[in-house]
Amino acid sequence: MTEILRQKPALRARVAAWKRAGERVGVVPTMGALHAGHLSLVEAAKAGCDRVIVTIFVNPKQFNSASDLENYPRTEDEDAAKLAPFDVDTVYVPDPEEIYPEGFATQVSVAGLTEGLCGSHRPGHFDGVTTVVSKLFLQTGADRAYFGEKDYQQLQVVTRMATDLDIPVEVIGCPTVRETDGLALSSRNLLLPPEARAAAPALSIAMRAMAEGLLAGGEIGALRAQAEAAVLGAGFETLEYLELRAADGLAPMTVVDRPARLLAAAWIGGVRLIDNIPVG
Ligand code: AMP
Repeated sequence: MTEILRQKPALRARVAAWKRAGERVGVVPTMGALHAGHLSLVEAAKAGCDRVIVTIFVNPKQFNSASDLENYPRTEDEDAAKLAPFDVDTVYVPDPEEIYPEGFATQVSVAGLTEGLCGSHRPGHFDGVTTVVSKLFLQTGADRAYFGEKDYQQLQVVTRMATDLDIPVEVIGCPTVRETDGLALSSRNLLLPPEARAAAPALSIAMRAMAEGLLAGGEIGALRAQAEAAVLGAGFETLEYLELRAADGLAPMTVVDRPARLLAAAWIGGVRLIDNIPVG
């Protein structure tokens, strides 16, 4: 049975012993409802570290809608069962007061990278992410932290935050894991009604077509309009954004003259899905 810790002192004692022994500690921060995407991060952490901590905390500060927070899947027993074969050293499921004790008044906020894309549509979201992730870095004392490229803007923001705050952790990005039909795995996929689930791969299909068009020298406005028509035609309610950005730093781009990323968010069946793919 994998050990589950819920309080800081016990976690600190564990990590201190590992560090005394000269072991490299990896952390995989999650909000639970684990799927193969999360487990790929666990696998990478196991391969790169002597000790692995998986954290599970549904962070209220990164939700900008009360109903989204309420509906977010919570499956701790299933999560523990999924982690069992990986033999991680500790699952840290902090009690809420271990993260936000009474009187908590600090916010960690990254400028620039958090503007635009998800930052425009989810006010306060990234401040919630950087606040909790900085705390998890400090509480775990991890040497390496594993994040998914699935949340590409988040990966960039967290990397910047760790650098700017001199937190001695190496942030490692891992490729997006997808269903066989191309849909990026997400805990929110569990919330999709069957019809919406069937139509959802249209987003990644349209993004791939747009990426190919861009690489073939197509004009971005026309390609974006085609992609939007395909996504809405497939049954998505809204395309929140679909943008070409620099892979490093997320500056807006119109032609692919350096490594780029197409990033999108769209609503289907009342669920907000995000995705991104490399271009070039
Ligand atoms: P979450 O539980 O959604 O906060 O995600 C926890 C971590 O898992 C984040 O670093 C995500 O980017 C990563 N993740 C989520 N979905 C995927 C996926 N399909 N492939 C790879 N990593 C993922």
